[in-house]
Amino acid sequence: MNEQSPLPQRNECLIAGQWRPAASGETMAVLCPSDGKPFAEIAAGGIEDIADAVAAARAAFEGGAWSKLTAVERGRLLTKLGEKIAENAEALAEIEARDTGKPMKQARADMVAAARYFEFYGAAADKVHGETIPFLSGFHVQAVREPYGVTGHIIPWNYPAQMFGRTLAPALAMGNATVLKPAEEACLTPIRLAALAMEVGFPEGAINLVTGAGEVAGAALSAHAGIDFLSFTGSPEVGTLVQIAAAKNHIGCTLELGGKSPQILFEDADLEQAIPVLANAIVQNGGQTCSAGSRALVQKSIYDKVMAALSERFSALTAAPHAEDGDLGALISAKQKARVDSFIDAAEAPSATLIARGKVSASAPEGGYYVAPALFGQVAESDPLARDEVFGPVLSCIPFEDEADAVRIANDTDYGLVAGLWTRDGSRQMRMAKALRCGQVFINSYGAGGGIELPFGGVRKSGHGREKGFAALHEFSLLKTIVQNHG
Ligand code: NAD
Repeated sequence: MNEQSPLPQRNECLIAGQWRPAASGETMAVLCPSDGKPFAEIAAGGIEDIADAVAAARAAFEGGAWSKLTAVERGRLLTKLGEKIAENAEALAEIEARDTGKPMKQARADMVAAARYFEFYGAAADKVHGETIPFLSGFHVQAVREPYGVTGHIIPWNYPAQMFGRTLAPALAMGNATVLKPAEEACLTPIRLAALAMEVGFPEGAINLVTGAGEVAGAALSAHAGIDFLSFTGSPEVGTLVQIAAAKNHIGCTLELGGKSPQILFEDADLEQAIPVLANAIVQNGGQTCSAGSRALVQKSIYDKVMAALSERFSALTAAPHAEDGDLGALISAKQKARVDSFIDAAEAPSATLIARGKVSASAPEGGYYVAPALFGQVAESDPLARDEVFGPVLSCIPFEDEADAVRIANDTDYGLVAGLWTRDGSRQMRMAKALRCGQVFINSYGAGGGIELPFGGVRKSGHGREKGFAALHEFSLLKTIVQNHG
């Protein structure tokens, strides 16, 4: 770790306002993806730590200092945390880049977004109003939003700092007390953000954080009977386990599980505008973005032209160590690199044709988890590259005939998170936007991961529930109807 960093250096669990090692005393090594070498240790929290964290959150919610704050006061704390993140953005970005392997410019952008979550929900905390409902004569009915109580949050490794803000800020704004289990692969910024939250004055127990293995600490959190609502972001496989655990405790959950998001180019698209966005939407964060634009659907009449332009772009891309700020960094882990490599190695013409590859910088250390970006053309709709989430810098291009064909192919995966639409035809824009089965549609733009204000979430294998925007405040609250007979 950087000894000069102004941020706290201890990597422990935060429970009831105290930092402490795992009850077992065990730790886990943290590897830097850029060189594969260990550079820090985290606490390997388990069942006991989770139980203590849930109890601390319960105490905070039921009678603790946190429960006594008004919405305005909660909002002020969130806003202060946003400011604190912005003040420490450079030091936090350095930690994030080293922990995840992402280029510094991406890590810096992530800190801007992390701060923005607290700014947005800080300002929104006192703006969640209830409603009155006309009912029988002599009755007064109101529907009000209340916090659930103790919320559990399990986040992945791709955007640790952003995810911290995305899941905790709306839950806290509503007055819930929280327990966070960040991903074991990358959890150093969440630890520091939790420390900053304590510095700005969050009362003990409002934010509890337990690091550790997913199948131990994550499973314990999702199964704990003291949790009132769960929020999970990660793989569909683990999302299924979390949903089963939630069902057993009869509680709700939001699941955000990734996608196979299409970007659809019609022959009237502005290609000069579209091509760089198309490439960036899959290269950003090494393609390890739930909303990555991983499929390009291209109208046949412009297919060759588009492939030539994309090929030129992909050939010029370089994966490099985080400090060198390449087009992309190393992937998160040896496991993720092996997964992405296996998709690339298994692809074979005529079902998928490799058109171009970028390179790995000559300066990249041997042990780092680098994958050169890959562009595949004429990908058959049945090929895994057209159907499965690769979660790496791999773009699959698929030709289509007309609008009906484009809608059919776009909707023909198990996922449905985001879609991008490139056409100047206004009527087609709206027809297509309505026909696409997903949670967000971008028209003549694409915002992989962007937009704190914009409700975000998927359908089917991409999950359910909505994060970001005001929608998240609704997810993290209970709508209670109060019926009064006043005669
Ligand atoms: P994962 O689902 O295993 O991990 C996500 C989080 O869940 C981590 O915090 C992890 O510790 C926790 N977890 C793991 N097992 C758990 C369990 N049994 N109970 C409760 N929590 C548990 O994801 P992964 O293995 O790191 O990545 C695998 C694939 O998932 C990727 O290749 C990618 O396709 C997908 N993924 C999607 C996102 C996303 O943003 N939607 C993020 C990361 C990974």
